[in-house]
Amino acid sequence: MEKSIDKKGMPLATQIFIALVLGIIAGVAMTGQVQFVNGYIKPFGTIFLNLIKWVVTPLVFFSIMAGVISMKDIRKVGSVGVKTIIYYLCTTAIAITIGLILANSLKHVFPVLQTTDLAYKASKSANFMDTLVGIFPSNFFAPFVNANMLQIIVASLFIGFALLMVGSQKAAEFTAVETLNDIFMKVMEMIIKLSPIAVFCLICPVVAENGPAVLGSLAKVLLVAYIGYILHSIIVYSFSVKIFAGLSPIKFFKGMFPAIAFAFSSASSVGTLPINMDCAESLGADKDITSFVLPLGATVNMDGTAIYQGVCAVFIASCFGIELSLSQMLTVVLTATLASIGTAGVPGAGMVMLAMVLQSVNLPVEGIALVAGVDRIFDMGRTVVNITGDSACAVVVSAIERKK
Ligand code: ASP
Repeated sequence: MEKSIDKKGMPLATQIFIALVLGIIAGVAMTGQVQFVNGYIKPFGTIFLNLIKWVVTPLVFFSIMAGVISMKDIRKVGSVGVKTIIYYLCTTAIAITIGLILANSLKHVFPVLQTTDLAYKASKSANFMDTLVGIFPSNFFAPFVNANMLQIIVASLFIGFALLMVGSQKAAEFTAVETLNDIFMKVMEMIIKLSPIAVFCLICPVVAENGPAVLGSLAKVLLVAYIGYILHSIIVYSFSVKIFAGLSPIKFFKGMFPAIAFAFSSASSVGTLPINMDCAESLGADKDITSFVLPLGATVNMDGTAIYQGVCAVFIASCFGIELSLSQMLTVVLTATLASIGTAGVPGAGMVMLAMVLQSVNLPVEGIALVAGVDRIFDMGRTVVNITGDSACAVVVSAIERKK
């Protein structure tokens, strides 16, 4: 992976950054020419995202299995797993609390709408027990066919544990999993080399379509969400890497830059996974921990999505002139934490799960229509927070494990 980032000549991070700036400039220049941009530029971004979606299923499957077996000892997997889950749940709950506090203290800037004539059809109404049952696959192939990441994680954990139990004297099984993991990593690396082109083709339509005008009315809620993203990153991630791993926050964010730039333009945590793994390892996270913590986090740890859901719940409530009570807020904390776990690491997934949060406190789901137009702009920021949280966790858990 290292070479893909430090490619001969210009490093990938610089290429991505240049592509990002060029994409924004081209988007501004082509504002309004939506047909051309969507017809001829966006498809190249879509090809790239399709390739990523194609490879991410085997990548997560083999990478978590390789992570489990590389720890060699079920107790170590348990100890890393418990720390990871605790870190993920606590940071997500803090994230949603920050989102709610911020949005509540700034909600006087949100408009109260005169019309409720909005059209948004929630694609599904998820209830907690159904979500829980849905995590466990009932068919061996279905998780792969449907790219159901939570089911893939469950399958890879079961098989990984089984390998540890039967495979202690049979190195061949371990080698097979590690080789398959290397192969899919290589495939991903090849795809990632295309990322500067993809970044250009993905960011340009966002700017051309939304234009500077749309930002006007929604600028306030976007701003509140972005303040939340920044506050959470600075407070929670800086503190945790400093306190648990003794790593300077400036060094941490600098080292994370390639992954941050990529997440911002692709709005996909799973797509950012390989770059994020490189960044986490270069920041001192152990390889075996990284290959367990990051694929898991790319699917279940979504602090940015949680902040967005908290801010949007308050925003939508105020637009409809509804005041959220304290117990409703607590319900939002709980459902947004679960919703962010169930959110797939692909563009736009958080908005679908927002329906579950709104329903839990009886807010009108049609309210999603208010924020849907600029969802991509929310999404770029929340994905950056999502992946930064995963790497912070890998750095922290590695440091704690090393101290043992
Ligand atoms: N796009 C986000 C991610 O990949 C998920 C979301 O839509 O909130 O992390």
